[in-house]
Amino acid sequence: MKTKTILSVHAHPDDESSKGAGIIAKYKKQYGARTVLVTATGGEEGDIVNKAMDRPEVRENLGSIRSAELARAIEVIGYDVAISLGYRDSGMAESEANANPNAFCNIDLDESSLKLAAIIRKERPSVILTYPEIQDRYPHPDHIRVYQVTMRAAELAADFTVEIEGLEAYDVPKIYYHIWTKGRIEALHAKFAEVGKASPFDDGWFVDAKQDYEATTKIDISDFISVKSDALRAHATQIDPESPFWFGLTDNEQAEAYPTEDLFLAKAPRGYEFGGFEDDLFAGLE
Ligand SMILES: [Zn+2]
Repeated sequence: MKTKTILSVHAHPDDESSKGAGIIAKYKKQYGARTVLVTATGGEEGDIVNKAMDRPEVRENLGSIRSAELARAIEVIGYDVAISLGYRDSGMAESEANANPNAFCNIDLDESSLKLAAIIRKERPSVILTYPEIQDRYPHPDHIRVYQVTMRAAELAADFTVEIEGLEAYDVPKIYYHIWTKGRIEALHAKFAEVGKASPFDDGWFVDAKQDYEATTKIDISDFISVKSDALRAHATQIDPESPFWFGLTDNEQAEAYPTEDLFLAKAPRGYEFGGFEDDLFAGLE
């Protein structure tokens, strides 16, 4: 069987660890997939979430520290290739960084999409993992832009009338959104109660779940939760090692409570009938 490639598009360092790390590690190890990471920005505007790391020398060099953290996480997860699109972090809406003309969200959509389309034509992935259209729960401008750029890039890559560096047009068969379902939050919340720990999920997590996508695709990552946890810990400035949200449950407790990472199939190969649910990224592919 031909080696299949999975291309993940992320906004800034740490997103590759919080979204899809278990899936990538699994498909690399169990299916020999080629795994390619594209990161749009350096995350220079990130806050230092881990108090132990909030020191002046860290604050001054956050861009280079985050790229070293990313390199470590890439090693842990096992990405074969990591490509940076090289844009500036857009910060949160209405911040000063957000007005910077070089910020990712301010770059002309076709300009940044053509960059990604060239990578798609070179790598010819079977699957692209990206962010959902609806991101009301955490509307980071760069996350929203990742969705827009991925979808436009896939369109441009497939369009044989669009000339990109002499590369042959390529139509990606499958595109997925990373999603956090209500079912996942409920299962983790219940597990905290069961093991007698305080849950980080307050009422806000359970109301107004309109933006929730139904999972079309659940990938069992129970053997790879430790990879995800180690990758998250590599991002020492961004992820508090004491965070109950990420580490309140042990890896085993997480696997018992909710063993899958969930996705929404946004683009499928023509004629693919999957009945609304699948448990394999490569289902329906040749
Ligand atoms: Zn992010």
